[in-house]
Amino acid sequence: MKIVMKFGGTSVADAERMRRCAKLIKERAAEHKVVVIVSAMDGMTEELLALADAAGTANHPALNARMKEIWRRHEEASKALGADAVAPLLEQLDRLVLGISMVGEVTPRSRDAVVSFGERLSAPLLRRALELEGVKSRAFTGQEIGLVTDEKFGEAEPLMELSLYQIADALKAPLEAGEVPVVTGFIAATQHGVVTTIGRGGSDYSATIVGAALKADEVWIWSDVDGLMTADPRIVPQARLLERIRFIEAIEMGLFGAKSMHPRALEPAADRKIPVRMKNTFNASGAGTLIIDDGSLPTEIIRSVLMVKDAGLINITGAVMMGRPGTAARILGLLGAQGINVRVIILSVSEGGISLAVNGPQLAQARATLEANLLRSGEARQIQVAEKVAIIAVIGSYMRGHPGTAGRVFTAMGKKGVNIMAIAQGSSELSISFIVKGEDGPEAVRALHEEFLGK
Ligand code: ADP
Ligand code: ASP
Ligand code: MG
Repeated sequence: MKIVMKFGGTSVADAERMRRCAKLIKERAAEHKVVVIVSAMDGMTEELLALADAAGTANHPALNARMKEIWRRHEEASKALGADAVAPLLEQLDRLVLGISMVGEVTPRSRDAVVSFGERLSAPLLRRALELEGVKSRAFTGQEIGLVTDEKFGEAEPLMELSLYQIADALKAPLEAGEVPVVTGFIAATQHGVVTTIGRGGSDYSATIVGAALKADEVWIWSDVDGLMTADPRIVPQARLLERIRFIEAIEMGLFGAKSMHPRALEPAADRKIPVRMKNTFNASGAGTLIIDDGSLPTEIIRSVLMVKDAGLINITGAVMMGRPGTAARILGLLGAQGINVRVIILSVSEGGISLAVNGPQLAQARATLEANLLRSGEARQIQVAEKVAIIAVIGSYMRGHPGTAGRVFTAMGKKGVNIMAIAQGSSELSISFIVKGEDGPEAVRALHEEFLGK
């Protein structure tokens, strides 16, 4: 078999964990052709984002403190593995942030350059851990295997056909030579060779892209949980593992924040019917979750309860909009042009309004954009926002044709006294989602889990 294996940040958080991953890889590589995709060390992407901001504001004390921590973690791992690959990269990063701090401005492009070091540093370390296990391997960056994107820095879109072709070509020789390629997740490059990143949680996406390019038999995503669960175990301690799940359900779960997955992470695999397995590095013999569309699949109505915390709700009201075709398109277009991702949209006929949920950090920008464009032109009369709301979603593809599911959802909320601010149900009947106050979120998730998935 040909297997693409992706290891998340928690799996490669330090040298010891990298060695654990290397052992897991070695076992599989004895029988199969394996390609490894690696994330940055746990928390490193956050650290690098903060570093870029410190550089952009020429905040030297913060910059130095961050740099010190980044050096420390990588040098510690490097020393423990007897590797010598990190110092030149860290020096390069030093120079880069110094340059940014001298200009005193961080751009999306230079931020991507900084953030890319997380994966650029972890890949040679994991390669070294493999070497210690006696596994022949070679480290590559996304750029080196031919993963190319557009120039939307921070959330660059892969140029899919070209990338698939180039990746297959680049990995052919190492695989034929019996090597295990270790490829950086999350980072890529434009066609002109400028480093880009493909969006938070993007290593999972890198893995399925490589899987598609190689026509892999399976893609395995190794993390610190046994697989996809009926809820986030940090909120619902009784959450259970989902052993098998359909792609559409898993994709919907990803959209609502399960496993901090990149929203498009499963697409390349789903389109080509490549099964995706989610497994736990710290419980490798566990079955994990198998995402697949064939065979016998459970028919529970609700498979998972999820929450997007720290969202913002915007209510746009004004009779002028009523009955005007294209209003929703206009609003989504305005936000889209600003790179604002609308997570839920609700059209209310009776109130002549539209409600939108966006990620908390984008709320202020979304509000400003809509006010500037819709109020002045008279297209809307009022724009109100609610901060710190949570989007709750129940997901399951067998909801279709099961009347009464929505009733059960809202009765459960009523019993707990949770006030619902807005409701949306996709026409695919794959999920029901609604908005509550942020502080009510965890309670709502627990109540729904109890109602549909047991105590
Ligand atoms: P990695 O670093 O391996 O990519 P992530 O942090 O991206 O890992 O995702 C794993 C985390 O996702 C888990 O630690 C878990 O707390 C969280 N999570 C949230 N919802 C779910 C869910 N429904 N099923 C599994 N994990 C979930
Ligand atoms: N390191 C990147 C992030 O934290 C990509 C990933 O881990 O999937 O978003
Ligand atoms: Mg992740």
